[in-house]
Amino acid sequence: MVDERSAGAVLFSNNEDPEFLLLHYTAGHWDFPKGNIEQNESETQAATREIREETGITDVEFLDGFRNKISYKYRKGKRLVEKEVVLFLARTETKEVKISHEHIGYAWKKYDEAVNQLTFKNAKNLLASAKEFLQKSAS
Ligand code: ATP
Repeated sequence: MVDERSAGAVLFSNNEDPEFLLLHYTAGHWDFPKGNIEQNESETQAATREIREETGITDVEFLDGFRNKISYKYRKGKRLVEKEVVLFLARTETKEVKISHEHIGYAWKKYDEAVNQLTFKNAKNLLASAKEFLQKSAS
């Protein structure tokens, strides 16, 4: 059973030569903007809200046809939490980022550097899928 469900996005700017937004979580990892889906909220509503709260970015255009999931388990005290994160692919024209207290930094990175900087393998794989999707939709 899934205990936590979050939604977020691989957010990119610069269509021609995309840069991807990564956030430095206080727990130490680098990941995409994302957060808990609240009751009565759709996945894209949650992703839009989390991006706004975590980055201050409000112009977010979701690309149709990209919806990808990652799942993991982590320990919260004595409890093992099963978590599922749905990630969309979204374009923005805003480069200015205002992070919240939930994060300690951010970075816009081109693909190779972004893959290196992401902490977890499942997030790296997801970024590879997003890049492929962008390449296919450009051709
Ligand atoms: P959210 O941004 O969804 O509100 P959060 O900031 O509360 O989440 P997570 O980013 O899910 O928390 O991190 C919780 C724990 O899970 C941390 O210990 C982190 O190291 C671990 N974790 C985060 N992402 C992954 C992943 N993709 N694979 C494995 N473990 C992860």
